[in-house]
Amino acid sequence: MKYAELRNYVGGNFVPPLVSRPLLDVYDPASGDVISKVPLSAAEDVDAAVKAARAAFPGWSSTTIKERVQVFYRYKALLEKNIDELSALVTEENGKIASEARAEILKSAELTEFACSLPQIAPGEVLEVSRGVECRIERFPLGVVASIAPFNFPNMVPNWTIPNAIALGNCMILKPSELVPISAGRIAELLKEAGLPDGVFQIVHGGREAVEAICDHPDIAAVSFVGSTKIAKVVYKRATSNLKRCLALGGAKNHLIVMPDADREMAATNIVASMSGCAGQRCMAASVMVAVSKTDHIIERMAEVARAMVPGRDVGPVISQAARERIIGYINEAEAAGAQVIVDGRTSVVPGREQGYFLGPTIIDHVTPDMRIAQEEVFGPVLVIIRTPDVDGALRVENASPYGNAASVFTESGGVARYVMEHASAGMVGVNVGVPVPREPFSFGGWNESKFGVGDITGRGSIEFWTQSKKMTTKWNKEAGVNWMS
Ligand code: NAD
Repeated sequence: MKYAELRNYVGGNFVPPLVSRPLLDVYDPASGDVISKVPLSAAEDVDAAVKAARAAFPGWSSTTIKERVQVFYRYKALLEKNIDELSALVTEENGKIASEARAEILKSAELTEFACSLPQIAPGEVLEVSRGVECRIERFPLGVVASIAPFNFPNMVPNWTIPNAIALGNCMILKPSELVPISAGRIAELLKEAGLPDGVFQIVHGGREAVEAICDHPDIAAVSFVGSTKIAKVVYKRATSNLKRCLALGGAKNHLIVMPDADREMAATNIVASMSGCAGQRCMAASVMVAVSKTDHIIERMAEVARAMVPGRDVGPVISQAARERIIGYINEAEAAGAQVIVDGRTSVVPGREQGYFLGPTIIDHVTPDMRIAQEEVFGPVLVIIRTPDVDGALRVENASPYGNAASVFTESGGVARYVMEHASAGMVGVNVGVPVPREPFSFGGWNESKFGVGDITGRGSIEFWTQSKKMTTKWNKEAGVNWMS
């Protein structure tokens, strides 16, 4: 086993779980080897982490935001300094290829850079509302908050929440995915090296039991969650029924609408990169191409680009053998129902890594909207093509999905682009962009069943979520006289 058994991180120390339970194996998806073991923490462990966070909160929240962000200037520099090691670790536990893992760490650095700008953009408001009477709004941290993460970005998704929530004065409990729990420990070490006081950041490893204890704990004020829609609903209901604020980001089924006038090369390369990047395990990945009218010339080029990709070199493995089998099951079912598999990655094997969970990019044409593969999140390097005669038909397909994370249109027409951007029922829309992720300072967040709760998880939108505003009314000017506010 390459890495020692993992421990929780409480009060600045790595500690074994309080309740002894069998540990879960952590796999390298490229080789199938067990590389570590992770504890499945109990409610007692969550409670210990909350106690440490509560103890740290008065000290941390009473520093100024300008002081707090100094930690994150140093943390950003440490992410950059250690990028080789951090990205190698992401590759090892998640499987994504080296360039994708590196991009993940760079994104973590960008998220941290945004947190460093918070003193400039979160100072509150002030106005003389009546002669001598001033109203002001100041933002205050919530206290102890929690962040629950999925497997697909072991470093970046925790960093969606850590820098902003902590710079805004909160103390945090992170519950990483039990499938990729190793990166979190390095994040804790780098935060400490950057000068974050002990107790401000905690890690509780585990699965369902730890998540439920977080949702139930009376001293946790807010819960952010990123993961599948099924669990997002469970967490949102449970946290809010315990009167916490909650923002729960769920799964996705992203549609790319391709018009016949789209630039052939740009559309083909962007669409294939979107469906195959991170082995299709991105909530922003292209999942359905809605091909409007005569688009065969683009589809042919997409097939060429996808066929040239080499699993193991250009496409990493999916997260587990179970995920691989589930994805192949979707493809088999669509094929049996009459769809045409025009690029087939089902039998891909990487020499020397035969036990890895690899799949090549797969493109399936003539899929119909009633097929399961057209409706459910596949979360693998698979793109289905649904044919439609016009843009309104394409929008009907897009808008019939219960999800609403991202949608894009590929076209040279400004009018069509604007029409799709306006009418697609998705929180993040793009034009000629395969992965329309808004970059800082813009906020990340979908619509419909891709997000539950108000606000967004990153950027400016997160300021509202991680703080509460206090409305202050003051009068010091005795000469101002009496008015209706007195
Ligand atoms: P998941 O829902 O299985 O797990 C997410 C978290 O929930 C993990 O920490 C896990 O331990 C915990 N969990 C699992 N089962 C639970 C249960 N029964 N009760 C309580 N907690 C439970 O998601 P995943 O497979 O790790 O991640 C992939 C999913 O995340 C995909 O659906 C993807 O679209 C989604 N995702 C969404 C976004 C977004 O921004 N909307 C971003 C990244 C990933």
